Amino acid sequence: MPSGKDFGSGKKNAQGKRNANCSFCRKNYREVGPLVEGPDDVYICGECIDLCTSILDQEKRRRGSHKQLFSRVPSPRELVQELDEFVIGQDRAKKLLSVAVHSHYKRLMHLQETEDDGIEIEKSNILLIGPTGCGKTLLAKTLARVLQVPFAIGDATTLTEAGYVGEDVENLLLKLLHAADFDIEAAQRGIVFIDEIDKIGKTSQNVSITRDVSGEGVQQALLKMLEGTVANVPPQGGRKHPEQQYIQLDTTNILFVCGGTFVGLEDIIAQRLGRKVIGFGNAAGSAENDQERENLLAQATVDDVMEFGLIPELLGRLPVLGSLAPLSEEALARILTEPRNALVRQYQKLFEMEECSLEFADGAIHEIARVARERDTGARGLRSIVEHVMFDIMFELPEFERGSSFVITEEMAKGTQKLLPEDDSAAA
Ligand code: ADP
Repeated sequence: MPSGKDFGSGKKNAQGKRNANCSFCRKNYREVGPLVEGPDDVYICGECIDLCTSILDQEKRRRGSHKQLFSRVPSPRELVQELDEFVIGQDRAKKLLSVAVHSHYKRLMHLQETEDDGIEIEKSNILLIGPTGCGKTLLAKTLARVLQVPFAIGDATTLTEAGYVGEDVENLLLKLLHAADFDIEAAQRGIVFIDEIDKIGKTSQNVSITRDVSGEGVQQALLKMLEGTVANVPPQGGRKHPEQQYIQLDTTNILFVCGGTFVGLEDIIAQRLGRKVIGFGNAAGSAENDQERENLLAQATVDDVMEFGLIPELLGRLPVLGSLAPLSEEALARILTEPRNALVRQYQKLFEMEECSLEFADGAIHEIARVARERDTGARGLRSIVEHVMFDIMFELPEFERGSSFVITEEMAKGTQKLLPEDDSAAA
């Protein structure tokens, strides 16, 4: 038990120490309420106790996460196994990412544990190329979760130069700080995913008029951040202004994963390889075309990406290049059912909560996958299609009898049959 006494209310203290002040903030007990007394006329007020508690908590969290982060780095094989639980297909990209991420965190462990031996292993930021909704963000996010490091997602197209409407590059780092609960040490070892990096090229044909403001300045800031700099992050977000206090964040050990669709890159690769270019745009969804596209993208080189329009300085800071395949109908069907948090499982959970059960017939799964494939938005389209199929039943679900079981058939997925509990539909 602390030997301190409550000065403000204690009778003994009330005698001679009426004018005692908190030894930390110097405020009088009349301003701050009761003071706790320590030996030798030392006092502390409630406000300072609260402050101390939060400082100690923060320090504890920092040390806790610090240990947790780098006690062991999973091997690339283990990382791939973890990724398999959440991401379907994309085996090459999984391997490539796992190796890069493993080396990155091994390097950090090495820096932390050993004396400087003069050999500096450079960090390997990653560039992922692949159509929309094929798992680029999901891969990076899942890796961050497996490694228990903070993770933030940003979009290169929203970054603009100071003075224009938009975001400063530093706002990406602020997101990371938020994800790390403002634990700077942890944020400095986090992963940042920057999407749409292909839209930031100087000479890219994809530059739109709305992005004129995103010029050299942004690129320079981005380059510095990717390479490693001490960035001044405004804790409140928004644009920077001179009177603001900044949090300094060293980006040297932050791993950046950049993603982009690089529409038309296949053509550049095909030309280099001397192949005839097929009209990719026209026949989206055909299996043959997908295969050809995948084969071409798998052969992408730094030169192809440079010809596409990404500036060489940016490419130089993204030494690991990986491509993701467009998702086939088969892969989309697996995405519906297999990952730990697959959409079908989510709906089954919702039904379970109402004490009902739900199954999707294979035909229904394939119908949903087929429609998603047609839309050409990758797995991103699946949710809205499933929601559309399930809309009526979700409205009625709480009113059905407990214990009812439901099967979604191909016809229901096509919208040609209405959903009923299994017994009734058999009768219908
Ligand atoms: P992008 O490639 O455009 O970054 P995302 O990774 O954001 O695409 O994917 C969008 C959503 O689609 C994810 O949240 C995930 O639910 C689903 N998804 C995409 N690709 C896959 C995949 N290969 N395996 C499982 N789910 C996927």
